[in-house]
Amino acid sequence: MSQNHNENRSELLPIEENGKTYWRSLDHVAGTSEFRDFVAREFPEGASELNDPVSRRSFMSLMGASLALAGLGTGCVRRPEEKILPYVRRPEDLVPGLPQFYATTMAVSDMVTGLVVEAHEGRPTKIEGNRLHPASRGGACTFEQAAVLSLYDPDRTVRVFQDRVEKSWADFDAYLDGLLQKFRGNGGNGLVIVSESSASPTFARLRRQLTEALPQARFFQWEPVSNERVLAGTRLAFGQPLEPVYRLERADVIVAVDADLFGSGPFHLRYSRDWASRRAPDAPGGMNRLYAVEPVFTVTGASADHRLRVRSSQIGPFLRALAAELQGQGVAIPAGIAQAGQGAWQKFVQALARDLAAKRGRSLVAVGRFQAPEVQAIAWAINDALGNLGETVRFAQPADVPAIAPTEAIRQATALLDGGNVDTLVVLGGNPVYDAPADVPFAAAMQKAKNRIHLTQAPNETSALAQWVLPETHFLEEWGDAVALDGTWSLVQPLIRPIWDGRSKIELLARLAGSQQTKGYDLVRATFLENQGSEADWRKALHDGVVDGTSRRWVEATLDAGSAAGAAGRLAAPKDGLELVFLVDNKVYDGRFANNGWLQELPEPTTKLTWTNAALMGPALAEKLGVKSGEMVRLEVGGRSVDAGVWVQPGTADDTIAIALGYGRTFAGRVGNNRGFNVYPLRTAEGAWTATGASATKIAGTALLAATQDHHSMEGRPLVREANLRDYEQNPYFAREMVQHPPLVALWKQHEYTGQQWGMAIDLNSCVGCNGCMVACQAENNIPIVGPEQTRMGREMHWIRLDRYFASANAADPTDLTDAEVVFQPVTCMQCENAPCENVCPVAATVHSKDGGLNDMVYNRCIGTRYCSNNCPYKVRRFNFFDWHTKGTGTGGNPLTDVEKMKFNPDVTVRTRGVMEKCTYCVQRINAAKRDAKVSGLEKVPDGAITPACAQTCPTEAIVFGDVNDPNSRVSKLKKQPRNYEMLAEFNTKPRTSYLARIRNPNPELVS
Ligand code: SF4
Repeated sequence: MSQNHNENRSELLPIEENGKTYWRSLDHVAGTSEFRDFVAREFPEGASELNDPVSRRSFMSLMGASLALAGLGTGCVRRPEEKILPYVRRPEDLVPGLPQFYATTMAVSDMVTGLVVEAHEGRPTKIEGNRLHPASRGGACTFEQAAVLSLYDPDRTVRVFQDRVEKSWADFDAYLDGLLQKFRGNGGNGLVIVSESSASPTFARLRRQLTEALPQARFFQWEPVSNERVLAGTRLAFGQPLEPVYRLERADVIVAVDADLFGSGPFHLRYSRDWASRRAPDAPGGMNRLYAVEPVFTVTGASADHRLRVRSSQIGPFLRALAAELQGQGVAIPAGIAQAGQGAWQKFVQALARDLAAKRGRSLVAVGRFQAPEVQAIAWAINDALGNLGETVRFAQPADVPAIAPTEAIRQATALLDGGNVDTLVVLGGNPVYDAPADVPFAAAMQKAKNRIHLTQAPNETSALAQWVLPETHFLEEWGDAVALDGTWSLVQPLIRPIWDGRSKIELLARLAGSQQTKGYDLVRATFLENQGSEADWRKALHDGVVDGTSRRWVEATLDAGSAAGAAGRLAAPKDGLELVFLVDNKVYDGRFANNGWLQELPEPTTKLTWTNAALMGPALAEKLGVKSGEMVRLEVGGRSVDAGVWVQPGTADDTIAIALGYGRTFAGRVGNNRGFNVYPLRTAEGAWTATGASATKIAGTALLAATQDHHSMEGRPLVREANLRDYEQNPYFAREMVQHPPLVALWKQHEYTGQQWGMAIDLNSCVGCNGCMVACQAENNIPIVGPEQTRMGREMHWIRLDRYFASANAADPTDLTDAEVVFQPVTCMQCENAPCENVCPVAATVHSKDGGLNDMVYNRCIGTRYCSNNCPYKVRRFNFFDWHTKGTGTGGNPLTDVEKMKFNPDVTVRTRGVMEKCTYCVQRINAAKRDAKVSGLEKVPDGAITPACAQTCPTEAIVFGDVNDPNSRVSKLKKQPRNYEMLAEFNTKPRTSYLARIRNPNPELVS
């Protein structure tokens, strides 16, 4: 990675549109040889060769020889012999070959999402959002999409182990009975349970049951990423812990203050959708305006109309300065909150205050859940003064607030263990040895417990110190229930019998609590019947996935102005100097998904890094420290240090280094071990999210970072197109007019496409860059991962990619690297009617379908010349350099086990080495819909009956698919919109996928 930003400003830069210059990376700005390689060639020099010592030339000779031998011998590839047995007794409703769908729920700490899961002959293969669930509304994010891969992970806990010796559940039950006999005699004295947090009412019921049965036992819930600061903030502001639920569809002006509303956290999918519902220029109620104030780019900041870089420790003073400006606008801010600011942000604050004051009751100031409770209280005072409470934000009573907040819980548990009086420690899920605060020595204390039991889906750093390691079920294998942020109950139902004979948390908890029932189904049903209704209601809830009418009644919150003012007064004055910001990772979260290859290989939305985290810093700090991307720094705070690779990221606040949690695992499994840098050793209980007084020093060495930001770069032409709302109103057709060309004439007679013809429209205005579409496509289409080394060469296989462009926010210097705006553009095969790939294929392996007008790939014919890829202006074709599918990547090239193969979608061919592949608009779904229409006696597939995987998961419905020959289809209507444009249409490729240009809605006061 070479990035010299001071010289050789790239002549490749001028992707100038509407007075803005777009660039993909700092290498792009600098015009480095690496970037030029990615533009000029399909892969950088040498990367299109096979790995040494076999060159591509020798590979082709080998291929030729093997093909010739195959021809001489059998005339075809010999497949392994397999026996297929019919069902003796076919399960009810199962028709072999037809998928089945069941509703269930996934909970990632407090993120509860209702899902619908597709299963083939009892194998779950694909996950979608449940339209009936309030947190999903039909969308699903990367974690849910990738959950199928974790289910079939060969590194899961597959047996019961005692001291690494294989045992059975019967052995463990006998052992546990002995322990419980003792604890029943002493009321549970000496028993400590540390559990992951849970949104399950059954879990809460059993926890109460256990503490009643064993009152001396201690029960703690620990979660490194939790809402404890939100609850503490509402307690300060309103005198009680409350869950705020935003109503973004009602807000004209939204201020996300260090709040990644669309990236992660409870309801982030719902928030994305509600925000996007007001993003069209002609949206009912008018277009909303989003401001983001944050230390490092989030997807929310990337979607904002205005973004201000502010250090994390300055967020409190920023809000107080905003309160002061609002007071000046006649907003009745309670005494003690406002404090005029001196920051460089004053112009921004003044304009923002005027905007907010003009939208009382129609605005929202949302503060991130990791800011201090005092900061949260200030924001609630501002929202109260603006009349937003009850309008754009409502409050729900939390379902189950543990008596002790997670950080205090892990402290107390550690102190108890350290005291040496704990007989038995039971850890239910989680990984506290890895993720406990750095100043809470859980690992050392844990080993003082005489008996250590860990129930876990996969062995990890905590199970390495346990004696008994028990297989835990995946959510697709278990019965359960969960409560969403707004109180909605939903059920978890198994799609498959536990593959490794695991037990769920509630099943083990029931055993500990001495419950008569210990089967998940009985436990969940009992909770339901006790709280929610009849047998008929249970059956309906199982079908729908959600329980009707369970959204909690909203609480009227009354501001305690004195308490909020006191909180503002207690805010510590921000210190100068370097500060570290810890991020929840978009891919591996807190580290729990580290062994999931789909998530590891997914480019992080704003940095485009794969397989690693990095110390993110702005160009000015990098220059001060004398480091470049890929070099190493030592980060130190409070006498602790961690070494990490550097990534220079535009848009990062001054003197701030941000680094994601969840990497540097040592017991994650074959995919996740030793990826990136573990920063938990720097993260203390107090400085869980921001650590001030840090230092960074350049050290020797380099980090081989795999970033995809320059991969598949296209020559500098207007690819993304955007305008301000005012400019759009003056010329709605601006996007189409950005490229002028003479009339386009084809070299040959144009085919006339009749009947149903498929096309797609992607709205850049609603795409928040969440990456959901990328993983959905991977799961649906059996797309392999290739590993970090191959990714560095540009060989990643994703059929849809998310291009991220920076544009300078500094009109005076379009290459200013400090501040930046971001635009995301999903790019996939455009299904061109005049497809350049088709003309150059020597064996007609890529051809056009008359029926539907798709650009088809005939895998069986492809001989791997890759001419098609070289001739594709959109760079959307992917070549299988190796046999990714049969040799697991990241698992040392071992053949896939039978369990791993269960992830494959049987409706999609699994490709092999030497074959080119690409997006097909999910042709298998098109064919299934055509078949269903035929069976139903319909002449045409109804509009909306086909939804490709990318469109189905998209939380904002940014991707719309349908019949372009039907003038009334949704996609045709979108294509008629003035904002619609076709990328590189000047080549006369006639792409079937088009884009709706992005429109920003800036505050006129802030437009220079
Ligand atoms: S198009 Fe893809 S990246 Fe954009 S919002 Fe939809 S799912 Fe997320």
